[in-house]
Amino acid sequence: MASEAAPSASPVARCGLKVAFRTLGCKVNQVEAETVAATLRGGGAELVPEEDADVVVVTTCSVTSEADHKARKAVRHALGLPRGPLVVVTGCLAALDAASLTSLGERVVVEADKSAVAARVREVAGVPPCDESRITATRVGEGFHTRAMVKVEDGCDNYCAYCIVPYARGVPRAVPLRSAVSEVEALVAAGVREVVLTGINIGRYADAGAGLPELITAVAATGITRIRLSSIEPEHVDEALLRVMASTPSVCEHLHVPLQSGSDRTLRAMGRHYDTAAYEALLARARAAVPGLAVSTDVIVGFPGETEQDHAATIAFMERAGFSKVHVFRYSRRTGTPAARRADQLDPRTIAARAAAVRECGDRMRRAHLASQVGRRLEVLVERPGEGTARDGSRVRFPVGLGHPGDLVTVTADAVDEHGFALVAW
Ligand code: SF4
Repeated sequence: MASEAAPSASPVARCGLKVAFRTLGCKVNQVEAETVAATLRGGGAELVPEEDADVVVVTTCSVTSEADHKARKAVRHALGLPRGPLVVVTGCLAALDAASLTSLGERVVVEADKSAVAARVREVAGVPPCDESRITATRVGEGFHTRAMVKVEDGCDNYCAYCIVPYARGVPRAVPLRSAVSEVEALVAAGVREVVLTGINIGRYADAGAGLPELITAVAATGITRIRLSSIEPEHVDEALLRVMASTPSVCEHLHVPLQSGSDRTLRAMGRHYDTAAYEALLARARAAVPGLAVSTDVIVGFPGETEQDHAATIAFMERAGFSKVHVFRYSRRTGTPAARRADQLDPRTIAARAAAVRECGDRMRRAHLASQVGRRLEVLVERPGEGTARDGSRVRFPVGLGHPGDLVTVTADAVDEHGFALVAW
């Protein structure tokens, strides 16, 4: 997490508190941690590297058993730092299994309520409380000058058979439209060029009659240069959303729509609300409505009962779909979910071999997508010298000296390199 001064924060007296952040997991966790960091800094705390901190805030993820393992490792690492900081732990593992975290050491404090983390940090550090409502908490973060994630929604009630998230985060709740728009206005004023509307299930956005399309329209009216949507479930890619995407120039031509499996049998067993035919129809509608649209996806490999035929169907579907990028997840058994109770769990070696095959297919698709951009004019938001992101979400590399971070440049892609970046000339 960056620690440069927040441009719009009013000068505050230093309270002497030094805080570090270790953030694991999804984009929502990142936004939540950045918000806590901004609130603490607005109250006079200093953001420092872990080694110099009085308090380390660890935001955990619990989406897989590996995520649990990483979360505990991060807490242990913080406990082992020479200065002996207090470790405040929040996030999904804190909500699901506080006991396993507090047992790691006496200096661990678990705070599952994210809105209470900043106050808890001050409390455990013995710093007097402050009125958070008076703090201008302009968020900072990686890419602060160019791109910021804006949390517009939290929670999910889909209860997919494999997923622990609804148990950790609860039912969908929208950030009020007025608050989301105010946050984007503040980011625009601070020089941010692109916002990523983020949530656990953003298609469930609903505030006083406004859904996601109305939210996008309101965000666009702030004058933000680019708007990107984070992951959206297939059932929410509807006509109203596509109309707004097509008619709002600031909305990037990119959707991330989780597929999870290309087998109807597996999709049913997962408790997903669509089949492959519906997903394919959605792709056709979306691409017709939004010219140049890139669609990326998630696939889970090795769900209980997944057969070789199901696996082959997933790869065949991916090849038909032409995704721009595929995130591959190995199924992880999460206690408390319906899938964890199934007797037909797959052997880890089978899961690993299938994941490698799906990953290989995804890499091929990504290279094919990038190759399809060669020769095209791309609008790139420069994020760091020589690097930026095109409207379709592709990372683009170009000679240093072409634009400064925050600039929009138009370039022609002339090659694809081994990292998948499109190399460009201008
Ligand atoms: S839609 Fe399914 S996978 Fe996504 S958070 Fe909700 S329950 Fe989990």
